[in-house]
Amino acid sequence: EEKYDVVIVGGGPIGIACGLEAEKKGLSYIILEKGCLVNSLYNYPVNMTFFSTSEKLELDNIPFISNNPKPRKAEALEYYRRITTSNYLNIRLFEKVEKVTYSEKNLHEIKTTKRTYSAKNVILATGFYDIPNYLNIPGEDLPKVSHYYGDPHYYATQKTIVVGASNSAVDAALEIYRKGGDVTMIVRKPAIGERVKYWVKPDIDNRIDEGSIKAVFNAHIKEIKENEVIITSKKGEETLENDFVLLLTGYRPNFDFLKNIGIELSDDGRKIPQYNPETMETNVPGIYLAGVVCGGMETHKWFIENSRVHASMIMEDIVNT
Ligand code: FAD
Repeated sequence: EEKYDVVIVGGGPIGIACGLEAEKKGLSYIILEKGCLVNSLYNYPVNMTFFSTSEKLELDNIPFISNNPKPRKAEALEYYRRITTSNYLNIRLFEKVEKVTYSEKNLHEIKTTKRTYSAKNVILATGFYDIPNYLNIPGEDLPKVSHYYGDPHYYATQKTIVVGASNSAVDAALEIYRKGGDVTMIVRKPAIGERVKYWVKPDIDNRIDEGSIKAVFNAHIKEIKENEVIITSKKGEETLENDFVLLLTGYRPNFDFLKNIGIELSDDGRKIPQYNPETMETNVPGIYLAGVVCGGMETHKWFIENSRVHASMIMEDIVNT
């Protein structure tokens, strides 16, 4: 069993920030990541552009140099990879943390798919991109349905339904339309989401107004079949011919994982994990939260710019207790 001062769960931008900070404080640490390096980011859409400018994605003031005001996914992968390799961060990839339990003498036991570790402190920087908000409708598990969008080329000439009206849905609809896909958006609310990037909003509104992207508002998708989809709207029930369905209705943190560790979640529907906002320590002593996982269901609340600071807050608390 390997023993560390700190075990960091999750090798996303904020897990990496925690590693850098632990290094600075002279603490022994390891980052455990279940997928590849910055796994969530790696699985973002191929052409994704960040809404943040590059300096706001920086960790530990290490310059993120980009020719574009808003960097693209490929540049961010380059940036976080170089930080990890140049600083020789202690990280193990493709090793999933399955369980964290309190053992004894103020130690937590961390069980992964490969080994067991013990540590006085554990930081959960597990993000929210692993678990989609399922709609629980018939046909959701058909092979033509996905909760993740990658590359627009795949949908060229195909009748594609995009469910949702936030950034991911809007980006997918625009890209697929521009690669020759026949796009229909199914939107629960009466309009496109308010948080859609301000420079993208006119583009989607105009495409919908001119009819090049179809949109049905105040609508729900009821059932997905092999060659069609049934929707309900003010007009009643309608059957649309369909080849592919993208359910881009958001993602949520792994609440079961947090609950099994003993972390309390708010019971107001937002499921915000309990933590001290000054130290980021949860109700379980020695277990901290960092990054977007802190927001519970409010996944838009935390992002890199406002959560990278969690790393220094946590390490400060660890060395002072
Ligand atoms: P993540 O990057 O999600 O990292 C968590 C990591 O933990 C993942 O790599 C995951 O594989 C790993 N993990 C989870 N469970 C386990 C386990 N049990 N064991 C081991 N490893 C585990 N934010 C911005 O600041 N600017 C943007 O422009 C921006 N654009 C975005 C665009 C999209 C399409 C999406 C989905 C999000 C965007 N975000 C943006 C939000 C962004 O996801 C977060 O800001 C950022 O990824 C947060 O980093 P994190 O380290 O907290 O979480």
